[in-house]
Parts: sequence; C-alpha cells; structure tokens
Amino acid sequence: MSQHAKSTAPPPHLTVPLLDLRRQYQTLATEIVPIVENIFANQQFILGRYVLEFEQAAAAYCNCAHAIGVSSGTDALLLALMSLGVGAGDEVITTPHTFFATAGTIARAGARPVFCDIDARSFNIDPAAVREFLYRQCERRAGKLINRGTGAHVSALMPVHLYGQCADMGQLLELAREFDLKVIEDAAQAIGADDADARRAGSMSEIGCLSFFPTKNLGAFGDAGMCTTQDAELAERMRVLRVHGGKPKYYHALIGGNFRLDEIQAAVLGVKLRRLDSWTAARQRNAACYAAAFTRAGLNGQIQAPTVTPGYRHTWNQYVIRAPRRDALKQFLGEQGVGSEIYYPVPLHRQQCFAYLGYGDGDFPVTESAAREVLALPIFPELEPEQIQYVVGRIAAFYG
Ligand SMILES: *Cc1c(COP(=O)(O)O)cnc(C)c1O
Repeated sequence: MSQHAKSTAPPPHLTVPLLDLRRQYQTLATEIVPIVENIFANQQFILGRYVLEFEQAAAAYCNCAHAIGVSSGTDALLLALMSLGVGAGDEVITTPHTFFATAGTIARAGARPVFCDIDARSFNIDPAAVREFLYRQCERRAGKLINRGTGAHVSALMPVHLYGQCADMGQLLELAREFDLKVIEDAAQAIGADDADARRAGSMSEIGCLSFFPTKNLGAFGDAGMCTTQDAELAERMRVLRVHGGKPKYYHALIGGNFRLDEIQAAVLGVKLRRLDSWTAARQRNAACYAAAFTRAGLNGQIQAPTVTPGYRHTWNQYVIRAPRRDALKQFLGEQGVGSEIYYPVPLHRQQCFAYLGYGDGDFPVTESAAREVLALPIFPELEPEQIQYVVGRIAAFYG
C-alpha cells in the first residue's frame, strides 16, 4: 500500500487514557472486598495486623531489614529527614527535575535544598554535577562540610529514582562516603527497581522512601507511603516519630508527627504487592512494544525514546519520551483520545516558592531542556498492543 493510500484512510479512533486503574481493580475485587469488610467489622483502623503484615512483606520485597508504613510518600521523606536529624542549618543535595515533595520536605524540615543538574539520558541526578558541587563549592571547617556560598552544613544527599529507574547509586554512594553525607533515596516512583549490581531501590542508603499514591506502580486506595532501612536503631526512631515521638505513649523525648498508615490501605497494598512483579513485567513488555513501534514508524529521528541503563531493572512508573514541539504534540494527542502528561513542566529551582534559594534561568541546562521536552505516554500494565500501536501512529501523524 502506498504512503498516500495509508494516510487517507482515517485511523480508527481509540481512547487511550494515561492510566486506567479500573481494569486492574476488576481483577482484585473478589480478593479485596472481603478483607475490607473484615476491617469494617472489626473496627481496628490504625497500625494493626494488616500494617504489620504489609511492612514485613514490603521489607522483604525491597531487600530491607525494616519497613515503616506511613501516611504518604511525602511524609516518608519528611520522617526520614527528621529521624536523621536533618534540619535548620543543614543543606541537602537533590535534583531539580522531580516531583515537588522531594525538595518541599527538605525545606519543611528546616533545611535548604541544593540542586545539582541531571543526566540527559536517565533524567536522574548526575554524579558528575554532585562531585563538581562538592569539590568546587564546599570545604571542610572543623570537620564539617560547609557550602562556601551559604555557610551552611552540607549534611545529606537525596537522589530520586525517577520514572522507575535507579539513579547512579554506585558513584553517589562513593561521594557520600567521601564527604560524610547521609543518603535518603526518594524511591517514590521506583518500588522494585534494581541497579546493575541487583541492589533494590530503597535498600542502598540510610533510608528509602516509597509512595503508594494511586498512580504509583503499587498504588493504595488513597494516600500511603513507607520508609525502609537496614538500620534497627533508625527503624525504631522512625516508629516513634511516626506517632508524635511518644514512647511510651504520652511521654515525648522527641517531637514527631502523625505519620500513621491505616489498616485499609495496608490490606489493599498487601493484596497488590503479590501481583507487582507481573504488573512490572507487563510494563516492561509495553516499553519494548513502544520501542519497536517507534523504530517501525521511523520516529527515532524525531522523538527520543527512553533508555534503560545497562543491567538496571526499570519498572516504568512512567514512559517518558523527549519530543520537539512537545506542547503541540500533547495537545494533538489529547484531541486524538490519547492521554499524556508532563513530568515536570517547571524545574524546582524555577518555582516561585524557591526564589529565596537564589537560582536563575540557565543554572541547570539539562534539567531545563528536559522540562521543555518530556512527555509521559500511557504505560500501565493492562494497556493493549493495539493501543500502543495507535499512540505511536498518532505521534507519527503529528510529525508526518
Ligand atoms: C509521588 C512522589 C512523591 C510523594 O509521594 P505522595 O505519596 O504523593 O506524598 C515524592 N517524590 C516523588 C519523586 C514522587 O513521585
């Protein structure tokens, strides 16, 4: 068939949402409903047996000795910072290309976020940029690492495993050792992701933070999150801080917060965790299906498909392409029934609330170009091959 004949036939109009959680629930309802009814009958809602069971299962899944269920991924980050004593006078190195909560919690803990640019391929914080900051901007004074520009103590590093792929932890952990930085992994998007040494997201540093927000690969029926650690003392500290720092109850050596996980969420998550590996396999099949379809459609000169760092287990929370004329493409796809989203349109160093940090346009060029070009396409496990073909066909039509 000629190119011309092909393009005159109107394509069948499919609807491809960015995410459809209803299909997944249909396969789970018969298992989840009786459990939730049981919780309703027992009226024990907070930190009960389902939370304990889920914490044990999730710790094992993440290759961690301890897991502490909390109220959200954001609260997991805040609790991690609090339990490590990161606060006023401290600075925490992180990426400007991430969800707001990463830097938002650093500021809420009383510390100052310091941004380092990302790697253009992985979208994760670039160890070379971190190294340059540490060697060029910092010096040791009285045994403490001080940012010469601000006079503050650079005490921690918070890499994000963005879109479901681990940051380059080998290099980052080496820098952290060299400069005495505490490390918190923001693994909110990356449960089950591994690096090339088969180390699991959330297991490689002092504390890993997971989110079970409904759009994450393991999604609750509401808000939920988790802190993971290999350190028994830190685990105990987080358990105490999770309930306002009271231990025993009503006796406070520490000031914590209400970071509790509830039984309904834990029960749902326990059921879903058993399916997570099969859902991840489906996401990986979908990613491979996109890559093949982009090649068949001759789109690789136009768009840039996401890459997997060799040896890594990418869990594809998001399938993010780089696209020229991104905003017009997004609009066109929307008109064609295809959902897409921009993660994230405004780099954190350009957010109004962080103007006080003193960053300007052009400070992080790799991040800024990513913010202009990234577009997340549907990747959820239940997506059909025809739907992927349709999405790719519509992208080809746009660049046509
Ligand atoms: C989702 C997310 C969070 C916050 O998790 P919530 O459960 O929504 O509070 C933090 N960091 C990153 C990178 C995220 O994607």
